Amino acid sequence: MKLKDKVALVTGAGSGIGRAIAQLFAEEGARVIANDVREEAAKETVAAISSGGCAIQADVADSAQVRAMFAQIEREFGTLDVLVNNAGIGTAGSSGANRDRIRERSDARMAEMLSGQGIQTHWDITQEMSDEAWHRMIAVHLNGTFFCTREALKLMSRRNQGAIINMSSVAALMGLDTVPHYSAAKAGILGFTRAVAREMGSRKIRVNAICPGFIDTPMTQPISPMMRAATVARTPLGRWAEPVEVARTALFLASDDSAFFTGQWLSPNGGLFIG
Ligand code: NAP
Repeated sequence: MKLKDKVALVTGAGSGIGRAIAQLFAEEGARVIANDVREEAAKETVAAISSGGCAIQADVADSAQVRAMFAQIEREFGTLDVLVNNAGIGTAGSSGANRDRIRERSDARMAEMLSGQGIQTHWDITQEMSDEAWHRMIAVHLNGTFFCTREALKLMSRRNQGAIINMSSVAALMGLDTVPHYSAAKAGILGFTRAVAREMGSRKIRVNAICPGFIDTPMTQPISPMMRAATVARTPLGRWAEPVEVARTALFLASDDSAFFTGQWLSPNGGLFIG
């Protein structure tokens, strides 16, 4: 019971890694608030938690919705001990057309690479990216992390305690060629993590980040079997991970086991990135 009676908000908890974190935190005694942009998804997560929990629908990219969510948390719980800024959107772009294009190009590039003739199919992701795709990626990941952190700090500062965990990615550490906007947003999250960790140290509020490698979730479903095989081949442990393996890292950073950690990132990535 590493989180006994702690109040923990997990954003994007309706799926994948966020759902696994919500479930593990509840098993460790936390009172879990599951946020998601889809109300049904958040409710499904809460229904899967035997000790119950609270589902709150909100788009973390919308500061008014985030303020309303925290007002509800203050009314119903009066405090917040842990915030996990996990909500995120797919790396393959916002539209199915983008996803299909990336998939086609990745398979073509892989075949060309294997043939030894050199790569003729270019990614050209950045030059084709719309303003909308760029802005939405930054809005959900970076703005969302800021909006939720800003409100959480107001609650945590009252008791001068708390743990904030920001979901970054190996994309922040190494750059991923198909997702410049995602890589930029996730790298921004690391800078934000370090700055707020320094700022909040005197209040004993710890701020850390997680940089997962490839994890099997609905977000990574669109990745083609060929690309998947290529990422596995680049991973020393030779596999992708399950969401619960990231959840265990979040549990460490949320609990007193990491009492002397702040401003750090941990990367469950199977060796894909060794820094
Ligand atoms: P996921 O299965 O797609 O779960 C993300 C959840 O966040 C979804 O339920 C999604 O709803 C929700 N969401 C999206 N936009 C939101 C918003 N504006 N406000 C509130 N909720 C929102 O993805 P995941 O793989 O678990 O990813 C979780 C986090 O880990 C993300 O930050 C992701 O970037 C990061 N990450 C994932 C991997 C990986 O390999 N899977 C690797 C590194 C980092 P919708 O389904 O409606 O969009």
